[in-house]
Amino acid sequence: MAAQWIDGREIAKAIRLGVKKEIETLARKPALAVVMVGENPASKVYVRNKIKACEEVGITSIECTMPTESTEERLLETIRDLNASSTIDGILVQLPLPAHINAKAVLEAIDPNKDVDGFHIFNTGKLFTTGEGFKPCTPAGIIELLKATDMTIAGQHAVILGRSNIVGKPMAMLLLQENATVTITHSQTKNLADFTRQADILVAAIGRAKFVTADMVKPGAVVIDVGMNRDENGKLCGDVDTEAVKEVAGWITPVPGGVGPMTIAMLMVNTLTSAKTRQ
Ligand code: NAP
Repeated sequence: MAAQWIDGREIAKAIRLGVKKEIETLARKPALAVVMVGENPASKVYVRNKIKACEEVGITSIECTMPTESTEERLLETIRDLNASSTIDGILVQLPLPAHINAKAVLEAIDPNKDVDGFHIFNTGKLFTTGEGFKPCTPAGIIELLKATDMTIAGQHAVILGRSNIVGKPMAMLLLQENATVTITHSQTKNLADFTRQADILVAAIGRAKFVTADMVKPGAVVIDVGMNRDENGKLCGDVDTEAVKEVAGWITPVPGGVGPMTIAMLMVNTLTSAKTRQ
């Protein structure tokens, strides 16, 4: 039997609606500053989608677009101003930054209480210890997708492909918090399929088009496809060979329409949380 789809668009829509309703009860609309340096076409699309979502839920978005040649000091000044502003609840710096800017220094300059992307080391530390603080949006959205299936996360074996700071590692922490047993794999993992075939929950976040094939998946598993790649025809595709894997998996996310919309929905949730705390 073919897998059931986990419809990220619908789940994200319901989350955004909840955020919108809550914002209507606040004395002041939350405000999110979106900082972008340079002209990266993919970044422009992501920023546009985030601003559109802000408009929909009632978050004021402040676009801070800076030219590619902007210095790191100029960017840090902008962040300091946004940190100091009493009306800004969230600050997001769209990555990647131009090569001459130290992205780590920039992310660490954001006030952790306005770090709605959850990338500041302070929030990372909280994630790895108390489980509090802003959670990175993509893995937080994946937890919501998993909760939308009929599977109980606790006790399941979750296998994650990829160990990046924005997806793989925080994903592992969030799944641990949900009492899954977690295995993280990466490019140096030997016999990768031996691990993936044991997964009740398989999260693919490696950036390799259609890498996960049907023979790598345990029958009935929940397969979450984080990848955003182009296939040989230039068509958007994930890290999972969806057509083949959906014949084996129990649940699967589409690309597009799976993880992507959830990342933005969780950004809205984090911005609302910040505004509520600050008000
Ligand atoms: P990344 O920083 O490039 O990390 C990729 C990870 O995959 C690394 O840990 C790497 O291992 C591992 N890897 C690469 N090739 C592998 C292989 N053949 N076997 C096993 N592991 C392998 O990527 P990322 O930022 O996490 O993003 C991953 C994908 O998700 C990309 O396609 C990205 O566009 C997408 N993404 C989507 C969203 C969304 O909202 N939909 C959000 C974020 C990212 P090493 O550490 O050993 O190098």
